[in-house]
Amino acid sequence: MQWFELPEIRVMNTLGRRIEKFEPFKPGLVRMYVCGPTVYDYTHLGHARTYVAFDAIKRYLALRGYNVIHVQNITDIDDKIINRAREEGVDWREIVERYTRDYMEMLEALKIRVDLHPRVTHHIRDIIEFIQALIEKGHAYVAPSGSVYFDVTTYPDYGELSGVKNPEAWRQEEDVLHEKRHPFDFALWKACKPGEPCWDSPWGRGRPGWHIECSVMSSKYLGDQFEIHGGGQDLIFPHHENERAQSEARFGKKPWVKYWLHTGYLTVRGEKMSKSLGNIVPFREAVKRWKPEVIRLWLLSAHYRTPLDFNEEALDQAAARLSRIRSTIELARRLLRETEPSYSLDERGSKLVEMVVDAWRDFHSAMSNDFNTAEALSAIERLASIVNRELQEKPNYTALVLALRAFQDFNAVFAVADDILFGSGGEVEGLIDKLVDLIVDVRRRLRERRDYELADWIRAELAKLGIVLMDQGLKTVWRRVR
Ligand code: AMP
Ligand code: ZN
Repeated sequence: MQWFELPEIRVMNTLGRRIEKFEPFKPGLVRMYVCGPTVYDYTHLGHARTYVAFDAIKRYLALRGYNVIHVQNITDIDDKIINRAREEGVDWREIVERYTRDYMEMLEALKIRVDLHPRVTHHIRDIIEFIQALIEKGHAYVAPSGSVYFDVTTYPDYGELSGVKNPEAWRQEEDVLHEKRHPFDFALWKACKPGEPCWDSPWGRGRPGWHIECSVMSSKYLGDQFEIHGGGQDLIFPHHENERAQSEARFGKKPWVKYWLHTGYLTVRGEKMSKSLGNIVPFREAVKRWKPEVIRLWLLSAHYRTPLDFNEEALDQAAARLSRIRSTIELARRLLRETEPSYSLDERGSKLVEMVVDAWRDFHSAMSNDFNTAEALSAIERLASIVNRELQEKPNYTALVLALRAFQDFNAVFAVADDILFGSGGEVEGLIDKLVDLIVDVRRRLRERRDYELADWIRAELAKLGIVLMDQGLKTVWRRVR
């Protein structure tokens, strides 16, 4: 049954900086590539922000019926990894394995479901083939050192994505500057330096430059044109500008990527959380204090493009918000179990249904409007108020069924109440509810006999277990708080 028409999905495309209607190349299929981490240090909350944002986008598109395939690479060869290995006096592969494990643990804890995690060093042959094709098409040149560069003058749209046209803005790597024909030219292949990991190539031993990996791995798994390319806003220039240049040059198709999406920074006192500023909060530290669901809710409490500032109070607040929502979902489930099934609607029932459907519709409107999770969350909190006030006072079956459907849609994106909505402990939960009902009934009988002392003791003991009783005249309602 259609309770309201789902709005069309619109997205802010970094390319062109405008809101556009979301229309995949092929109906029903969304291919999404997100730039993954360079694994040389512990994953921090800044990474979590970007990855949770794209996970929520993926989940919403899936909720709307799209088949979404999400590829997120792992950069396992890079100057930072090599330097780190040197500092510690260990093999670079040890660094890669340590921090890849840490990153994977974060994805798992935050319920981020990536379909494929390609690694650069597993794709060296594909990278060489890609570079060779660029050389053959006249888009790249081999320098005397054996490094290969992309020639930006052969790609007239260079700078269109980022708006960066000024060569001064592009800081050069001193040692390669003299080899380049144009200051924007960038390395596709870096000639081997002593003591570095290197691979054979037609141009001598060396290793891939940074940008080429994403063009190679995205096209390998998603095709030479796909729907969404994402990452943090720091990647727009030069990384994504360069990826776009080399991919459109190689495949001769436009657009290579239909929608470019970029997340705003997670900040600490207004500054980007980053290793170089020394202000990172590693994810593994954060989860010691806040549950992964709390971190998810907090990260999604702001729209993905706006900056979000880290502070402990904000996370504590998110914990309180989540607890309210979760206990309301439990309450709605219990009320539904206790209410006689009937879809007949009197005037009050119709009004309640309208209120619930309004909040549900607002959730979808917000998510359809460039995946505005902040407003979507507000809509769900409004729904929670309706359940807590109107529906708790006088339950209505239809309104409760719809409220639960709306909570399910919310959870399909936010993934913060899987255990309540789908927990395997459903039967146990049902039994717990019945046992609490029984205790509440015993307490009512005690109060009728004026044994207030024992009645109060029961109330206090249940409160210790997180079960709160509220006496409303002769009736007692209860709810769980967590
Ligand atoms: P990196 O490992 O630094 O290459 O980062 C991997 C991904 O996380 C990229 O998409 C970055 O843009 C993103 N990222 C890193 N730090 C932050 C931050 N403070 N806020 C938002 N995204 C970030
Ligand atoms: Zn990339």
